[in-house]
Amino acid sequence: MIKIKRPIACLVIACALTGTAAGAVVERVGRQMVNNSEPCVVVDAGHGAPDGGAVGANGTDEKEINLSIAKKLQEVLEGKGIKVIMTRETDDGIWDEDAQTIREKKVSDMNNRLQIIKNSGADLFLSIHMNSFTNRRANGLRIFYDKQHPDGEALAASIQQSIADVTGAETNAVKTADTRLFLMKNPVTMSILVECGFISNPEEEKKLQNDEYRAEIAWAIAESVENYFDALNN
Ligand SMILES: [Zn+2]
Repeated sequence: MIKIKRPIACLVIACALTGTAAGAVVERVGRQMVNNSEPCVVVDAGHGAPDGGAVGANGTDEKEINLSIAKKLQEVLEGKGIKVIMTRETDDGIWDEDAQTIREKKVSDMNNRLQIIKNSGADLFLSIHMNSFTNRRANGLRIFYDKQHPDGEALAASIQQSIADVTGAETNAVKTADTRLFLMKNPVTMSILVECGFISNPEEEKKLQNDEYRAEIAWAIAESVENYFDALNN
């Protein structure tokens, strides 16, 4: 089981998933979706065995919380009539079977996630991660949007406010992916990374272990996404 040091490693991986990919930009007429049927979101649960992501103060694997929130998010979004494509739905990463080493699995996993995003024609890529830092008092949400889709800033801010309203979690200004996150430079579609809290903070880790708290986060994200699509179509 790989334990990736954080936060840089996690962010790099998250962004790796949103990156590459010139081409395949979702076409829009003005701000309206060309595909007027249902909007589509790729929901990405960060990491996946053998990559556990960050490790919480009391040993929680980031990958498990990511998947739990991603699945709840899928459920709520689908309930709102939004099409959802998941990058992973089990504990495992989505590496090809011929990948042998941990490194090969990670590279394969990342390539496959990218392919899912490219093939999806989605209007939004939403990646769910947890944060971690050496200072155990670090807490709260961190939300990043890609620079090439400036509309993402408002949506990221809305998601942040929505989660803060529902959970009372501390907020910080939303940020564009910085140069460290090189794979968010050329995203296939509008990409937002939600770091839902610091599992290195024992109190926040405890909250994130709570199923109801996770559901609140998912609900809050979905509410903002729904409002975003409603605004596009009205
Ligand atoms: Zn992560």
